[in-house]
Amino acid sequence: MGVTMRELLEEYAGGMKDGFGFRGVLPGGASTDFLIDKHMDIQLDFAGVAAAGSRLGTGTMVVLDDQTCPVGFVHNLEHFFAQESCGFCTPCREGLPWTEKLLWAIEQGRGREEDLELLLRHTEWLGPGNTFCALAPGAMEPLQSALKYFRDDFERHIREHRCPYHDPEPAIPHPLTSIIPITYDHLHR
Ligand code: SF4
Repeated sequence: MGVTMRELLEEYAGGMKDGFGFRGVLPGGASTDFLIDKHMDIQLDFAGVAAAGSRLGTGTMVVLDDQTCPVGFVHNLEHFFAQESCGFCTPCREGLPWTEKLLWAIEQGRGREEDLELLLRHTEWLGPGNTFCALAPGAMEPLQSALKYFRDDFERHIREHRCPYHDPEPAIPHPLTSIIPITYDHLHR
């Protein structure tokens, strides 16, 4: 507590591995907002991280490097949260699978420009005050900050109809498609 993000990552954690650059960090685990390079000198305490727009949360920091796709990274997180939803409240039960499917479509090169607005609206629908517990609002934190800090990556996926971080691959069916009905035709293309 109280050291800077830079000290923690570069000194105590040994810095980025050779050949990898820093893109961002979830300072308090999967359910917190990304911080980026401009936040490297913040004090790592509750007030310092909150002032930068995130939370210390569990204190389990997760670093995003510059060779990992931010869209795929966030999709992986939302896949986890969608699986963890207990189903008690509608925004979480329905919204998290939708969020995951939209991210999957974008990652697979099947996203539409309007999907970014739809994802943003999900961060409000599933935000604080709309669900019984903190799972859904927490799930929206990495998404809302990724849309803010890595928006170019999302737009590039849509523009180029592929993930720019991977070699072109055949589209893979969504893992949840067979168990959760979906009506957006573009997700089936
Ligand atoms: S927000 Fe919490 S209580 Fe509501 S469905 Fe999700 S996990 Fe269950």
